Amino acid sequence: MIKLRRFLKPFLSGLLIAIALLFVQAICELNLPNLMSNIVNVGIQQGGVEDGTPEALSADSHTFVRTFMSEEDQALLYRSYVAVSETELSENGKPYSELYPNAMDTGVFALRTDISSEDRTKLDYTFGLTTWTIINALTQIQSQYDLVDESGKANALPVDVKSNGTGGPSDSADTVGLQNIDLDTLYELQPLLNSLPPAFFVDARNQAAQVDPNMREQSKTMLVAALYRELGVDMTALEIDYILKIGLLMLLITLVSGVATVLVSFFSTRIGAGVARDLRSAVFSRITSFSHGEFDRFSTASLITRSTNDVTQIQMVLTFGIRMICYAPIMGIGGTIMALQKSVSMSWIIGVGVVVLLCIIGTLMVVVLPKFRIMQTLVDRVNLVAREALSGLMVIRAFGRTDFEQQRFDEANSDLTRTTLFVNRAMTFLMPTMMLFMNGLSVLIIWVGAQHVAQSQMQVGDVMAYMQYVMQIITSFMFIAMIFVFVPRAQVSAQRIHEVLETVPAIVDPANPRHIDPESRGIVEFKNVSFRYEGADENALSNISFIARPGQTTAFIGSTGSGKSTIVNLIPRFYDVTAGSVLVGGVDVRELSQHELRGHIGYVPQKNVLLSGTIAENIAYGSLDSSAVNIAKAARIAQATEFIEEKTEGYDFEVAQGGSNVSGGQRQRLSIARALAIEPDIFLFDDSFSALDMKTDAALRRALSSDLADSTLIIVAQRVSTIRNA
Ligand code: ADP
Ligand code: MG
Repeated sequence: MIKLRRFLKPFLSGLLIAIALLFVQAICELNLPNLMSNIVNVGIQQGGVEDGTPEALSADSHTFVRTFMSEEDQALLYRSYVAVSETELSENGKPYSELYPNAMDTGVFALRTDISSEDRTKLDYTFGLTTWTIINALTQIQSQYDLVDESGKANALPVDVKSNGTGGPSDSADTVGLQNIDLDTLYELQPLLNSLPPAFFVDARNQAAQVDPNMREQSKTMLVAALYRELGVDMTALEIDYILKIGLLMLLITLVSGVATVLVSFFSTRIGAGVARDLRSAVFSRITSFSHGEFDRFSTASLITRSTNDVTQIQMVLTFGIRMICYAPIMGIGGTIMALQKSVSMSWIIGVGVVVLLCIIGTLMVVVLPKFRIMQTLVDRVNLVAREALSGLMVIRAFGRTDFEQQRFDEANSDLTRTTLFVNRAMTFLMPTMMLFMNGLSVLIIWVGAQHVAQSQMQVGDVMAYMQYVMQIITSFMFIAMIFVFVPRAQVSAQRIHEVLETVPAIVDPANPRHIDPESRGIVEFKNVSFRYEGADENALSNISFIARPGQTTAFIGSTGSGKSTIVNLIPRFYDVTAGSVLVGGVDVRELSQHELRGHIGYVPQKNVLLSGTIAENIAYGSLDSSAVNIAKAARIAQATEFIEEKTEGYDFEVAQGGSNVSGGQRQRLSIARALAIEPDIFLFDDSFSALDMKTDAALRRALSSDLADSTLIIVAQRVSTIRNA
């Protein structure tokens, strides 16, 4: 994969944008559970009161809370609040009488807007401490002083003060009951409080300072809510406003996250498709530059798979992988950080979850991953059998082996089916296992979390958020596991593509090509040429020397496999000689550019290949500017006129791919005409007359010798008659 990274370069900016967007998305997703926990904790449980510091308090409560404060805190209280009157307007432009309707007659103190942030933090702490000081003091008073209310009932304290304020396991904040306190009854205690010695309050404060900070944090808004109620603040509106505010924020974040998701898909699809396009074109152009030697090395089928299927694998990994590879770690790390902020003591659950998940995935990998590899080879096998059966259908029928081939295909097919079924069954098993695991983990979190809630170490919303964070962490680990499945498969494909791309064609143009000497035009000379195919044990040609001149016919005749085609293939430099040299026009073919060299050669291969297009297009294939007259002339010399004119479309007759809709002889004649049309100096006919009948063969040779009297003819033939005049 690394070796192909240069293909990513043009898409670097897109990739960076996609990664940045993934960060945006991750931040959004990581914040949602937090906000949800705010809705539960602040919105529902604290009645929408966010802060431990009241925005305002009545004159009575100002006096009351001050009683419990140290001198330093009292000073803080004095400098932080100002008395407001009915006529004044508040920060948000509303008259105070409207905001705090109940207490305007007795007087209201509002929080100054210009207090320092340092004081603000101190205030939060002070009010938290004071809440518990009040609880402790009232508990003391209840046990030491015999309080009797007007109706004569004992225990008339408006607060349920079972708590001793030390934060033991049984004292949840709820049992303190400050929420529903009636402050007026407390104010009646003011004379009593005033008579108490300062040491009493110091004691209560010290006790309050020892209360578990978690518990103090959770109870911090109790007093504030009571103070607000006293002022006549609309508590329902406060709650709904808060929930709406956070809800809207969550909607907004979801929207941003959604947009980011879409944009990431947009970019990663573009990158995937773009890289695939570049890879395909790089592979294709490299393949077209391959010499015959490289084609012998890679099979054509393999080259096709490499430039299609393998490229698609890479495309897939890029399209889906950008998200998975970048997103999973961000979510995994981010989720862990967020979860730890919610609760450190439950982090063992994450550990257990990840370990169990890794076990499940590990088992699956061991069982399924090897099958994935086998599946790829089985797909190859089915393709191979099917292709062979289809292309050899005639032979198969002629020899009555249809059943055999059918069986061969069935075997390959059912092998594939079996493996696919196995893999899919294993995968089916995975889903319920994962669900069981995930839900089990949820139950565990609720179980442990509920105990934490009971001990006032966590709030309900935090447990819910914790659960979501753990799910995010687990999901990211699942993504990471999928990466381990995807990437190795793409790795194999990348390797296969890289093999093609790094193959340097054996035959390349020289840096400073020479040109054909006009004097020696058309002369082909072999000097002590020896040639051995790559990997072969023996030379195909040894020490061959000859000269073929213009106006002459030079012919080769010999048994099959004697090396005739090999000689012919050396002239257009399809292969390079192993020893000696081949000269065309007086210059070694290795010193000419391939384009110039081949422009002088009309080559008719042993195996005739036509390309899809009309007859005229096929004849003019090597000489695009050929006029209709030239095309007709080439067809005439090649003895093709007769059959072309028999077709109703004539030269516009569409040749099918590979020339399958014309006969072997016709195909041969068209490929001869194609070589003639470029009007070269040198003609190479590699067994090109074999499919012609005697009469046509003779006519063709007559036409060649009269029309191409100045050309060099190099002919490989089977029939002695063909080369009698050579
Ligand atoms: P012919 O005289 O029938 O045209 P060729 O020139 O095609 O013979 O082949 C000469 C020898 O070289 C044969 O033994 C053949 O097996 C071998 N040969 C031909 N093409 C290749 C190739 N692409 N790779 C390896 N060996 C080859
Ligand atoms: Mg041959």
